[in-house]
Amino acid sequence: MAARVPVSRLALLGAPGSGKGTMAHKIRLHFGITSVASGELLRDHIYRRTEIGHRARSYIVAGRLVPDDFITHLVMRELQQRGDDGWVLDGFPRTLPQAHALECERVRLDAVLCLDVPADTIRQRLSSRWIHARSGRVYNTHFNPPRNAGRDDVTGEPLVQRLDDRPDAVVARLREYRERTQPLVTHFASRGLLHTFAGTETNKVWPEIHAFISSHVRSLG
Ligand code: AMP
Repeated sequence: MAARVPVSRLALLGAPGSGKGTMAHKIRLHFGITSVASGELLRDHIYRRTEIGHRARSYIVAGRLVPDDFITHLVMRELQQRGDDGWVLDGFPRTLPQAHALECERVRLDAVLCLDVPADTIRQRLSSRWIHARSGRVYNTHFNPPRNAGRDDVTGEPLVQRLDDRPDAVVARLREYRERTQPLVTHFASRGLLHTFAGTETNKVWPEIHAFISSHVRSLG
């Protein structure tokens, strides 16, 4: 059962496929802290065929980051709806202007958890990732396969590959990460917020994150 913890405001930083979504899921299960996943917010709009989804789609399919003001507005609106509860930001901020926007809005972060995964592992993970489009549940044909091949465990519906997991989009996403997201490592380190967790296996990295959040949350309490 999830342990109830005092309010905690975390952000997950890492390349596409570094396991941010998986860790956000585990944090919710173990600590009861829910996530705000910027990519999920956008995919939900695309799925519902909204105007926001229409604007975001071409960027996502090309493996490019959507404009800063656009995603910042969407995430800030979501955070306001959450009120004073704690949360884990999954995939936001992803650029320096986005990080500055959080500071301007006086959104406090307690810690930034940076997932450091080698590029080869990332490429392999992205090419074997499958999702259930409606719920966002993620599978990996190598290390987290669905019970029935190609089918969601909960609904039995067909799984799909994300459009931005195609090889050319992956190259673009990794470039965006290097050029626009990686500068955040120095940014958050200079503010004393950065905690890096390196490794290629989720099951080995998770206990370290679990221990960190446990002690961090105790120190807040
Ligand atoms: P994700 O599911 O976090 O990998 O995000 C999927 C895609 O959504 C990214 O490749 C971007 O195109 C877009 N996206 C998600 N979060 C952001 C963000 N913070 N800034 C810009 N684009 C984003």
